[in-house]
Amino acid sequence: MVCDDDIKPLQRQKVCVIGAGMAGLASARELRREGHDVTVLEQSGDVGGQWRYDPMTDGADPLGAAAAPVKVHGSMYASLRLISARETMGFTDFQFAPKDGRDVRRFPGHREVYLYLKDFCDAFGLMELVRLNTGVVRVALAPGPIPTRQWMVRSVDLGKSDGAEEVEEEFDAVVVANGHYSQPRLPSIVGMEVWRGRQVHSHSYRVPEPFRDEVVVVVGCGASGKDIAMEVRRVAKEVHLVAKSMEEVTQELAKVLSKYSASLHLQLHVERLCEDGRVVFGDGSSILADTIIYCTGFNYSFPFLDTEGAVTVDDNCVGPLFEHVFPPSLAPSLSFVGIPVKVFAPWFFEAQAKWVAQVLSGKRTLPPEEEMVRSVEEYYRAREAAGAPKNYTHDVSLFDTTDYI
Ligand SMILES: Cc1cc2nc3c(=O)[nH]c(=O)nc-3n(C[C@H](O)[C@H](O)[C@H](O)COP(=O)(O)OP(=O)(O)OC[C@H]3O[C@@H](n4cnc5c(N)ncnc54)[C@H](O)[C@@H]3O)c2cc1C
Repeated sequence: MVCDDDIKPLQRQKVCVIGAGMAGLASARELRREGHDVTVLEQSGDVGGQWRYDPMTDGADPLGAAAAPVKVHGSMYASLRLISARETMGFTDFQFAPKDGRDVRRFPGHREVYLYLKDFCDAFGLMELVRLNTGVVRVALAPGPIPTRQWMVRSVDLGKSDGAEEVEEEFDAVVVANGHYSQPRLPSIVGMEVWRGRQVHSHSYRVPEPFRDEVVVVVGCGASGKDIAMEVRRVAKEVHLVAKSMEEVTQELAKVLSKYSASLHLQLHVERLCEDGRVVFGDGSSILADTIIYCTGFNYSFPFLDTEGAVTVDDNCVGPLFEHVFPPSLAPSLSFVGIPVKVFAPWFFEAQAKWVAQVLSGKRTLPPEEEMVRSVEEYYRAREAAGAPKNYTHDVSLFDTTDYI
C-alpha cells in the first residue's frame, strides 16, 4: 500500500537554527537532509556549545544572580568527563568511536566530545551552514495573516569590535537550540544577600585552586556537586557537601564520604546564612565558611524570543510544548530541539530534529492544535499525579510517552 505521506510534494522551507551546540548541529543536518534551506546562527566563535570548554567565567557575577542572560555560555569545568559511556553518546549513523592519538577512554573528557562534534560537522559539511559570532537578539513573528506569517530574526555580528549593526532576516521557520546549562538556578536561602563570604554557582566553577585552604560548602548533590566537592576537597581545608535529603546519599557516595571523612562532610539542608560567615544546617549545627558553591542546576532562558505569550517559562517548565518540541499555537514554524534532560544525547536530539524537519517538509503531520494542547495538559496532569515537581517537567527519564520516530 502506498502511504499518503509518500505522494505529497515536499516543501522546502527557509529555516533558522539558533545555536550550534549538539542540538543545533543535529537540527542542521536533519533539516538539510530533508531538503530545507538552513542557516545556523551561533553567537560564539566555534561550534560545540557546552562541549567547547571555556576557561572564562562571569567574573563580575559568579553567582549569576544578575538579570539574564549570563555573559559566558560555558558551564563545564576543566576536569569534566562524560557521565555516560561513549557508546551511548553518538548520532545513530556516526558513532562516537575512540580515535588513535585522542582521548580513547570509555568516559572521555569534554574535549573529546567537542572534537567528535567537529568531526561530525566535517563529515556532513555543516560548517557551510553555520554563521559564527552571530548573536540572535530577537525572534518574533512578522505581521501578517497567521498561516503565512514569517519569523523575523534579528542578529548582531559579534566579531566586529565596536557597535556592529543589527541585521534582520525573514525565515519560514525557526528552530530554537540555544541550550539550557548556562543560566544559574539558585535556591532561596535566608541570609544569602548578607552572607559575607564568596558565593559562586557551578556555572562559574572551572578549577579547584581558588579554594585552596578554604572551608567550602557545596550545595547540591547531583553529578556536578559530587564532582566539584571531591575535586575541591583535595586543596581545601574542609568541604561540606549539602544534600536535600538522605535519599540523595547513594551507597557509592556513602563510601566516598566515609573514605574521606577527615575533610569531606555530609550536611542535610542549609537552614540559613549569617552575616558573620556562619552557615547553619538543618540539624542546627553551624560552621564558619569561606565559600559556598551552588551546584543547583540551571534555568531555561530564551531572552531573544518574543512569542507574545504563546511560550512561557514557569518554574523551569517551558510550555506549552507538544512532546517538548512544538508550541501548539505556533507549530510547526517554531520548534525547540534539546529541551529534555537526562536523555541519550545526541541521539535524542537527532530524533527530535528529524521529526521537525519532516513536519516542515510535509512528510509528517502534527495533530490539530487542540489535540496537541490536550496532550500537553494530560502530560502535565500525569506528572503531577505521579508527584513529579513542575521544575522537572522536561526530565523525561522518570516516565515519558515521547516517541519521535
Ligand atoms: C557541567 C555539565 C556537564 C554535563 N555532562 C554531560 C554528560 O556527561 N553527558 C551528556 O549527555 N550531557 C552532559 N551535559 C549536558 C550537555 O550540555 C548537553 O548534552 C548538550 O551539550 C546540550 O546541547 P545543546 O546544543 O542543547 O546546548 P549547548 O551545548 O549549550 O549549545 C547551545 C548553543 O547555542 C548558542 N547560543 C545560545 N544563545 C544564543 C543566541 N542568542 N544567539 C546565537 N547562539 C546562541 C550557544 O553559544 C551554544 O553554542 C552536561 C552539561 C554541563 C553544564
